[in-house]
Amino acid sequence: MSATIFVSGATGFIAQHIIKQLIDNNYSVVGSVRSASKGDQLKESLKTDKFSYEVVPDIQKEGAFDEALKKHPEVTVFLHTASPFHFNTTDVEKDLLLPAVNGTKNALKAINDHATQVKRVVVTSSYAAMFEGEFDPTYTATEESWTKLTWEQAKENAEIGYVASKAFAEKAAWDFVEEEKPNFSLTTVNPGYVFGPQVFDTAAAGTLNTSSEIINSLLSLGPKDEIPVMQGTWIDVRDVAKGHLAAFESDETIGKRLLLSDEERFSTFKITEIVRDYFSEYKDLPVADKKAHQETVNKFCKVDPSKTWKVLQFEPIDIETSVIDSVSQILKNKK
Ligand code: NDP
Repeated sequence: MSATIFVSGATGFIAQHIIKQLIDNNYSVVGSVRSASKGDQLKESLKTDKFSYEVVPDIQKEGAFDEALKKHPEVTVFLHTASPFHFNTTDVEKDLLLPAVNGTKNALKAINDHATQVKRVVVTSSYAAMFEGEFDPTYTATEESWTKLTWEQAKENAEIGYVASKAFAEKAAWDFVEEEKPNFSLTTVNPGYVFGPQVFDTAAAGTLNTSSEIINSLLSLGPKDEIPVMQGTWIDVRDVAKGHLAAFESDETIGKRLLLSDEERFSTFKITEIVRDYFSEYKDLPVADKKAHQETVNKFCKVDPSKTWKVLQFEPIDIETSVIDSVSQILKNKK
């Protein structure tokens, strides 16, 4: 019999891809969801008895994962993806920092106290936790880079708060392993902005999850609108899911931070150009100055994820494919 994997935040954009790949690879999955109705809906969409769920309404509540893990002694791998990823708050500490950090601590404590059979734990961190030299074009970010924001700085606004929430949560995970010496080994997955289609076509409608919405929001621009300036490191969601599987399947990933990113940054100029060139439906999107993409990304640091790709050994999906697959799915829902 193949292993049973616990996935926290099972209804999330990334988690659903992870769950699909786990099931395709013959694993069984126990997912944590915030409510039974969300769990039932996901179970119905997945159409498999290899998926079951436990309700964990709020990961930051002390002991949040205890009962779920006590009920599933068959779980041997824990993938912690649940964490708030949005910028809709003015109370950064309450809505971003505390759930991210306490959610991670609660997950690891529950495993240590009630599921000592778990041997591998993967925490979904972020490139945001590696923002050490993000605004310095002479810096190169690697698996060793660490965001150095303080808790006070983090409370300034939701964007900074989210970045810091990922750094503090990841740090809490490494500290836990260092201090408690648990039975499990830890790996973190640190993706850039995650693009690509939703697992289920019908989910690609209305306002999407934070990272997918970057592409979605560009589709409503008129020919004379200014393209909102945004850039970042990026990766396709199908590769993020693959990275999570490799993160617990391979011994080479133990104790590592996997920087899941393309070497080239995206910009909203580049995405708009790909969409306009490929889709006749979007030929009226605004045309950007030819130099806009390069000038935008040149203001930020370089990224060198080569150590990660050496371990993972698969070819990541390119930006054209990722954007085209995302937009094709959105269009399918509009027709
Ligand atoms: P989603 O918002 O789609 O998923 C987040 C998941 O976490 C949802 O299932 C959500 O439940 C759950 N969750 C959030 N807060 C709580 C809470 N307090 N209690 C219980 N559950 C909670 O985001 P993504 O799939 O994009 O992100 C998943 C992970 O990947 C996060 O850790 C994020 O920081 C990280 N990440 C994402 C990137 C991206 O570009 N998408 C890039 C790098 C890292 P519900 O939907 O019911 O609220």
